[in-house]
Amino acid sequence: MKHVVILGAGFGGLELASRLSDALADQVRVTVIDQNDGFTFGFSKLAILFEGKDAAEVQIPYSELAKPGVEFRWERITAIDPAARRVTTDRGSYDADILVVALGADYDIDATPGFAEGGLEYYSIAGAERMRDALPSFTGGTILIGVLGQPFKCPPAPFEGAFLLHDQLVERGIRDATEIRIIAPMSAPVPITPAVSQQFLAELTARGVEYVGQKQVVELDPPAKEAVLEDGERVPYDLFVGIPIHRVPAVVAESGLAENGWVAVDRDTLMTPFPDVYAVGDVVAIPMAKAGVFAENAAGVVADNLIARLRGEASERRYEGEGNCYLEFGGGRVAKVEANFLGGPAPMAQLVGPTAELAVDKKAFASERRTRWFGA
Ligand SMILES: Cc1cc2nc3c(=O)[nH]c(=O)nc-3n(C[C@H](O)[C@H](O)[C@H](O)COP(=O)(O)OP(=O)(O)OC[C@H]3O[C@@H](n4cnc5c(N)ncnc54)[C@H](O)[C@@H]3O)c2cc1C
Repeated sequence: MKHVVILGAGFGGLELASRLSDALADQVRVTVIDQNDGFTFGFSKLAILFEGKDAAEVQIPYSELAKPGVEFRWERITAIDPAARRVTTDRGSYDADILVVALGADYDIDATPGFAEGGLEYYSIAGAERMRDALPSFTGGTILIGVLGQPFKCPPAPFEGAFLLHDQLVERGIRDATEIRIIAPMSAPVPITPAVSQQFLAELTARGVEYVGQKQVVELDPPAKEAVLEDGERVPYDLFVGIPIHRVPAVVAESGLAENGWVAVDRDTLMTPFPDVYAVGDVVAIPMAKAGVFAENAAGVVADNLIARLRGEASERRYEGEGNCYLEFGGGRVAKVEANFLGGPAPMAQLVGPTAELAVDKKAFASERRTRWFGA
C-alpha cells in the first residue's frame, strides 16, 4: 500500500487528504502532519478582528478529522529530505512513497524594522486578536495600511480590512475624525485586471480611503509615529496596520526545495524537481495570487493525477490556477472574484457582486469544506 505523506493541514493539505480518502481509502495510507491542533480559514481572521470572535471559536479542531485511511499527526516538522522523501518531526520520522509539501507561507515580521513594536497586523491569528483588542482605544487620526512586500496571501485582504475598518469607525462615530490611507507596492489594488482594480478603487474612494500605489513602507519609526518609504519619504500615522512580508516556512527553506525563495514546481503537475515530491498552495513559486482557493485547486489536480496513476489509468489534468475568492465589502455585502491565472493566454479575473446573497454563499463555502475535509 502506497504511503502518501502530506505536510501541512491547511487548504491544500486537507483538500488532498479528503480527495484521496474519498477515492482510494483502502488503497493508500495517508498521513497528514501539522504543528497546529486545528484549522482556521484565512477569512476567519476578519471575524476575529471585526466580530469580536476568539481564535477558539473559529478553529476547527483536527481531532474532528474522520476520513477513512487518513491519519492526522499533531507534530512540528523539523526537516524534509526531498531526495529520500523522508520527513523528521519533533516526535519521529516518516518515509513517504509520495510526499506533498503544503506548508503555506510564514510571516517575517522582523524584516520590517520597527513593525513588531510600532505596528499591528491581522494576517496571523494572534495578530488579529491583538488588533481586535487595540482598536477600541483608537479615537481618531490617521490609519495607515501598508503592504510591506510581495507576494502576500489573498490580494483583496488589505482592502477587505479597509472596508470593514471603515464600517467599524462609522459605527463608533469616529470615521469623520479618521483618515485611512493604503500604501502598497502594486500600481493598482489587484493588478491582475484593470477592471477589477477600478471597481476596488471606486469602492475605496466612495468611503474616502486613499490608495497610494507603487510605494512601499520599509521601516517604522515608532517614537515619531512615522512610516519610512523606500525613497526616504516619511509618512505620519496614529495607527499602523501592516501586511507582513511573507516567506516559506524555515523548514522548507532549509530543505533546499525553495532555492529562489519559493518551491519550484512544474506548473502543470505541481511536481518538484524531486520524483514523487509535490508542492501545492502558498508555498509554491508560481507567479500568481496566493489564496486558499488556489491551494485547493492545486491539491485537486495532484489528487486527480495520483488517483488515476494508482488505478493504472492515464492521468491528464493540468493545473490552471483557478478559483473563486469571496471578499467582504462591508455592510454585510460580499463579492466574488472569479480568477483563472494559467488556463489561457493571460490571467483572467472578474468581480461579481457585492451582494447580500454572496454573503450566504460564503458561509456555505466554509461549511461545505468543513464537511468534505473533516467527514460527516
Ligand atoms: C486575512 C486573510 C483573509 C483571507 N481570505 C481568504 C479568502 O477569502 N479566500 C481564500 O481562498 N484565501 C484567503 N486567505 C488566504 C488563505 O488563508 C491561504 O492562502 C491558504 O490558507 C493557503 O493554503 P495552504 O494550504 O497553502 O497553506 P495553509 O492553509 O497556510 O496551511 C499550511 C499549514 O502548514 C502548517 N505548517 C507550517 N509549517 C509547519 C511545520 N514546520 N510543521 C508542521 N506544520 C507546519 C501550518 O500550521 C498550516 O496549518 C486569506 C488570508 C488572510 C490572512
